[in-house]
Amino acid sequence: MKVIVVGAGIGGLVSAIRLAAAGQQVEVLERNPMVGGKLATLEEGGYSFSLGPTLLTLPHVFDEVFGLAGTTLADQVELVRLDPQFRYRWPNGSTFDMPDDRDAVPAALEGFSPGAGDEWQGFAAHAAKLWDLSERTFLAGPMNSPLALLSRVRSPLDLARIDGNRTLAKSAAAHFDDPRLQQMVGRYATYSGSSPFKTPATLACIPHVEQAYGCWHVMGGFGRLRDALERVAIAAGVVIRVGVDVGRIAVDRRRVTGVELADGGSEPADVVVANVDAAHLYTDLLPHPKQAKRLDRAGRSTSAFVVCAAVRGRTDGIAHHNVFFSLHDRQEFQYLEAGQMAIDPTVYACVSSVTDPSQAPRDCENWYLLVNTPAAVGLDRKLTTAAVLNRLAERGFDIRSRIDYTRTLVPADFEARYRAVGGAIYGTSSNGKGAAFARPDNAGPVEGLYLVGGSAHPGGGLPMVAISARIVADLVAERHG
Ligand SMILES: Cc1cc2nc3c(=O)[nH]c(=O)nc-3n(C[C@H](O)[C@H](O)[C@H](O)COP(=O)(O)OP(=O)(O)OC[C@H]3O[C@@H](n4cnc5c(N)ncnc54)[C@H](O)[C@@H]3O)c2cc1C
Repeated sequence: MKVIVVGAGIGGLVSAIRLAAAGQQVEVLERNPMVGGKLATLEEGGYSFSLGPTLLTLPHVFDEVFGLAGTTLADQVELVRLDPQFRYRWPNGSTFDMPDDRDAVPAALEGFSPGAGDEWQGFAAHAAKLWDLSERTFLAGPMNSPLALLSRVRSPLDLARIDGNRTLAKSAAAHFDDPRLQQMVGRYATYSGSSPFKTPATLACIPHVEQAYGCWHVMGGFGRLRDALERVAIAAGVVIRVGVDVGRIAVDRRRVTGVELADGGSEPADVVVANVDAAHLYTDLLPHPKQAKRLDRAGRSTSAFVVCAAVRGRTDGIAHHNVFFSLHDRQEFQYLEAGQMAIDPTVYACVSSVTDPSQAPRDCENWYLLVNTPAAVGLDRKLTTAAVLNRLAERGFDIRSRIDYTRTLVPADFEARYRAVGGAIYGTSSNGKGAAFARPDNAGPVEGLYLVGGSAHPGGGLPMVAISARIVADLVAERHG
């Protein structure tokens, strides 16, 4: 059977490997000159930057994929488990280093905020249960109907235990007295491009994932993971064609027959796996008013403003992952919901050269700064860069006089580079109780069409898109033998 995968993002590459390992003839068509989609990198003047992911969690999800191709993650890339996982900083000057050793977290938190050690233990136990439940229900298969989910729950109590009726901010406030720790937990909503004041408390499982499975860096840069997936896909027999823009999914009598290319050519296929943003799929490639409306109703996830700064010299007190929190988290997310960039945003700074000397020239640093923005917001690069660097300087990290060059990404770049509509990084947002059900299904509305990647179930982030590839490969095996 011939399968065409449209788009060579991580979800596209992983599904291609899985389908090839299952004996299918797989061809991947990517419009960009190279594979990887949002896992893109920049190398300039001896500095290396990720333009997308800077943190890998759940590495075993990728190990499983490499295993299907007869190799291992460890054989393909060198990973480093980071300790501390994150250095968090608040405007009042307080700092907390999250230890990698989960047993060390309560004591570390107790030293930071008396009483927080016990609070963390209660929260961590709750988060672990949420992950266990999410993994065997939500992440274990498609969400094409409430029945599909019901078939995976063990008891009706599971549905209550998933903690979908309150927001992540409410859960954080119920577990922690210290507003700084509420803000720290609330930030996990941004891992799915959402607001802690809107997204279901189920997302409290993410800190458990980091604690239990670690926060990892790919030595040599995240591009090494992309290159390994490309290499292994080709070795498994997958044909990858770059610079090929797909203009249309071809359908005959509600069944996929292949794709039409933007240059007028066509390619027949029995199955098409769309790794493109679902909004691009249902607006341009297979116009479908009902699906497009559903996406509209769910709303877009956040986008980002990214500054890559090549910095001479070394900076005292900087860790690999740093978070400079805003003074008012509620106000910050109110701005985002109103479609504006926050005046006082939280700034995330990844300086991977702290761990990996290959990422910057000797005694220099590669600063990757990211601020969440609404999708589709227009930003002035110079002004916004200055605002972010000034904010860091106010917080004691003035790198302005040591910068060799900066490169920026605004929401319009994410749209232009990856056809992520509005530059939304994760497709639809996870705001609201029904968000998990609003995400597009992995099985499309016509026979033989499947959706993989961050805008489809179960959502964005490297491990999630790899899980969506597993769900799609299972569906193809089940329905097409
Ligand atoms: C700034 C940023 C920071 C992030 N940080 C993290 C992080 O720290 N950790 C983490 O796990 N995740 C992170 N993510 C998310 C993660 O990178 C994405 O969820 C994941 O890479 C998306 O993969 P995907 O399979 O959805 O494909 P995408 O990356 O969306 O790729 C889709 C591909 O389809 C191609 N395409 C689109 N239309 C067509 C067409 N018509 N014809 C042919 N090809 C087409 C595009 O060119 C693109 O290559 C981050 C993302 C960004 C942007």
